[in-house]
Amino acid sequence: MPTLWISDWNHYICFTKTILLMIFKPSIIVLLVSFFFFSSCNQNTDTNKSTADRIYINAIIWTGDSVNSKATAIAIKDSLIVYVGDDYRSYKGSNTEIIDVVGKMIVPGFIDNHTHFLSGGYQLASVDLRNAKTESEFIATLKKYASGLKEKKWIQGGDWDHETWGGTLPTKEWIDSVTGNNPLFVSRYDGHMALANSVTLQLAGINKSSPNPAGGEIVKDPKTGEPTGVLKDAALGLVNNIIPLETSTELDESLQRAIQHAYENGVTQINDMGGYGGWIDMETFKRAQANNKLHFRIYSFVPINTWKKLDSLIKKDGKGNDMLRWGGLKGFVDGSLGSTTAWFYKPYLDAPNTSGLQVTDTILLRKWILGADSAGLHVAVHAIGDRANDWLLNVYEEAEKKKGNTNSRFRIEHAQHLTQNAIKRFSELKVIASMQPYHAIDDGKWAAKRLDDERLKGTYAFNSLLNANGLLTFGSDWSVAPLKPLMGIYAAVTRRTLDDKNPNGWYPEQKITVEQALRCYTINNAYAGFHENKTGKLKAGMLADLVVLSDNLFTIPPEKIADVKVLRTIINGKEVFVRK
Ligand SMILES: [Zn+2]
Repeated sequence: MPTLWISDWNHYICFTKTILLMIFKPSIIVLLVSFFFFSSCNQNTDTNKSTADRIYINAIIWTGDSVNSKATAIAIKDSLIVYVGDDYRSYKGSNTEIIDVVGKMIVPGFIDNHTHFLSGGYQLASVDLRNAKTESEFIATLKKYASGLKEKKWIQGGDWDHETWGGTLPTKEWIDSVTGNNPLFVSRYDGHMALANSVTLQLAGINKSSPNPAGGEIVKDPKTGEPTGVLKDAALGLVNNIIPLETSTELDESLQRAIQHAYENGVTQINDMGGYGGWIDMETFKRAQANNKLHFRIYSFVPINTWKKLDSLIKKDGKGNDMLRWGGLKGFVDGSLGSTTAWFYKPYLDAPNTSGLQVTDTILLRKWILGADSAGLHVAVHAIGDRANDWLLNVYEEAEKKKGNTNSRFRIEHAQHLTQNAIKRFSELKVIASMQPYHAIDDGKWAAKRLDDERLKGTYAFNSLLNANGLLTFGSDWSVAPLKPLMGIYAAVTRRTLDDKNPNGWYPEQKITVEQALRCYTINNAYAGFHENKTGKLKAGMLADLVVLSDNLFTIPPEKIADVKVLRTIINGKEVFVRK
């Protein structure tokens, strides 16, 4: 658009020439000549306007755009991509910064479609039990952390995994003597169970006679009947309710830590599922934006039982802007495989007395989904077990029928264990499978003791979903798993379990290609968050979110993908991270 054409000197001359011609020689020819003047002036304007601020050259670019999939240069002006191709010369002006990336790879900024971002940021500064491989390492890590505390403080975080030391659940007796007076509540990495010490159990009033809450379990010693300290699913609330809320300053600090961590991993956008009840998370993001501290894209989800509150917010304030958006709701059907609370048709092999559970009253959940969808809100619900997924697909189908042909973009978070029939239904119902490839190489270490081969065939069924024409999207579930899309791509492409016992891949028929995995982390995720017209691919006119990688993902051996480094991260046209 030739805006403000009179405001610069060139246009002033054009304008004057035209007026003079019109005064002295009014004719059809003059009209044509003046038209020529204007159009040439306007062309100049456009050329000037598109002179880039920065151009990355000598790159191997995977654009994610099927029309123009490869290029060697990308030019950026302000927050936008103005050119992707090979001949960038006309975009180079006297002030253009040229960055020669010497043959490195550039891809669209990674979108992580499932995070618990603030809790992740908190975790970065809390005790980390992910590397505890034995009972004594577990105890030693907590001892070291607790002895470093200057004042009495809640010990949280954790990310432990009892499967790494053979499956025995930790107990309060392991850690009471090393945690002193500090109340402790450390989670298993999937967030579906946590260990409390005796101080915490006492504060929460949990004892021998406490009944299990609906949808949860207080694990008790079979001999004494005393609580062991481990709480599962809905029982976590008994302790979570008494943990003092973090101050807004602490939340702000967690957010900035998390954003920095995202930059370093090439993540330019997240779909956030909340960690502090969703609304507190969203308020923290809003506060950061108001203070000009949100140079990062967030699509923020809140709990589905609050859909009416979200509906009124949107009616009043809209759905946010390109940096911070809302409009999505998150719900839960079941628990997790690791905690034997994922809801299956058949019992677990190693826990034959249970087939998992529904963590939300399904009558209410169905009502919320139908209500939220008919109000035009975006629904994403956690379902892990095969029965939970089928239940949810049925409700989504019902919603589609009720509303007619819609653009609901229903999501199933995790979609972890699917029957062969469910795999087809994802495509038929256009339901988005929102999956986390890292979980596959983690669970693959031990899932066979819990599930039979028949069920494992539909486990993390990336390739089957794509073959059935389903829309597959990827995320980390951080802090459940690392916020590392490259690790996720590695996992999806190799399916090598973390213990390296499946060098050719665990259920290798479910491996997908590098390009498919890249699409899942970029353009597919943009679609799953209603942002595909602005982010997810590299194309003129799109927002300039991109990353420079140390290696070409297409040519290195797949097992090396996990070692690839993010060299630069660019968000909204600005370089937010450059590896030193
Ligand atoms: Zn999650």
